[in-house]
Amino acid sequence: MMDIRTIREQAAQFQTVADGKKIAISIEELLETDTRRRELAGQAEELRARRNRRSESIGAKIAAGKPDEARIEKEQMRIDRETLAGIEAELDTVLQRYQYLMERVPNLVSPDTPIGRSDADNVTLSETGQPPKFDFDARDHVELGELHKLFDIERGVKVAGSRSYFLKGDGLKLQRAVQQLALDLLEERGFTGMDVPLMVRTKAMQGTGFFPTGQDQAYRIEGEDAWLVGTSEVPLIAYFAEETLDVAEPIRVAGISTCFRSEVGSAGRDVRGLYRVHQFAKVEQVVICRGEEAESERLLQEITRNAEDLLDLLELPYRKVAVCVGDMSQKNHKQYDIETWMPSRNAYGETHSASNVGDFQARRAGLRYRDEDGKLRFCHTLNNTAVALPRLLIPLLENHQREDGSIYLPPALRPYMGGREALGIV
Ligand code: AMP
Repeated sequence: MMDIRTIREQAAQFQTVADGKKIAISIEELLETDTRRRELAGQAEELRARRNRRSESIGAKIAAGKPDEARIEKEQMRIDRETLAGIEAELDTVLQRYQYLMERVPNLVSPDTPIGRSDADNVTLSETGQPPKFDFDARDHVELGELHKLFDIERGVKVAGSRSYFLKGDGLKLQRAVQQLALDLLEERGFTGMDVPLMVRTKAMQGTGFFPTGQDQAYRIEGEDAWLVGTSEVPLIAYFAEETLDVAEPIRVAGISTCFRSEVGSAGRDVRGLYRVHQFAKVEQVVICRGEEAESERLLQEITRNAEDLLDLLELPYRKVAVCVGDMSQKNHKQYDIETWMPSRNAYGETHSASNVGDFQARRAGLRYRDEDGKLRFCHTLNNTAVALPRLLIPLLENHQREDGSIYLPPALRPYMGGREALGIV
């Protein structure tokens, strides 16, 4: 949760960002609720102190043989008790509303975040590589998948419903090859690989800022306090929750997990192929550092670079965009997306999302460190996709296809694919 003192000081800015991020919250109502909360808490405290003084005084009066005076005071005490009960009941209601509103306050965005309402307003910062020009009838990834027997969407839907698939044969090998390439690159760059729980408690979802605003994206395990994760960022941040951490050197972890998303709100969008599915596999970078803007900004560049380097190794054309406020979630302070060229869409499609979350998650989940003066401070947290599949199979298959239907494998992948230079026709 953001600091209420900061919200008081920068109320107008918080409202502007909430409106920009399309979060329905009135900061004015929050501040009024906060004022009322403090008034009522003060009154309740005063009444409790008076009750304690009165009971001492009643005792003293009885001991001094003044029963009439003691009776009057007892009557006043009874009236105070009723007043206190009323105040406590109101305080309870006010506190619930305060909590509700505080959970929805957005993180402020960096000064260089573009203004805009949707992804159409994101700003392209760089383009790397050239989209291929085919002088033959290029196939899309679904056709290539059928040709090479890489996946089976029809049976995926039969078994598990819409947006489901089976990966098989070389499709599975390719996914695992890309994941291992990513894990190896990240390990070389100081990341510790982690396999994470795929079911987490509500507290982990709240602490990482995925709840309450993103709750409709998550699948719940019936009858238990457990949710399927939509990204390993959740268990990885929660792993460090409520701890005082040594971040003299930033903590770098790479989570590998299956991710589950309900994709409510995406009905009818991206229904062909493997672009938007309910279950996918992701290697995710998570970094925790000192709560200093310059440090987390530097690390945002670092984790973005890692993703770009992976795409360079895969020899894929991509662009980096600065995400505008209207396309950012509640928790993000600054965000870059990387979009990779997908020939069948004749467009770049999002494959990576890098975020500097500032101290938003650290405050909610309690990730602290001691600064040079020994003072406890909140960390900053960051995350970025390293590789997400099967979505990344789309550019990989489509950009690297050749006229005879075979698929070129870049040298970086070959050690993970038994040394093969291409996927030939089966
Ligand atoms: P996010 O964790 O939402 O920032 O997403 C990170 C990456 O995961 C995206 O850039 C996509 O590559 C991938 N991804 C997200 N949602 C889906 C989905 N429903 N189906 C397939 N891939 C997805």
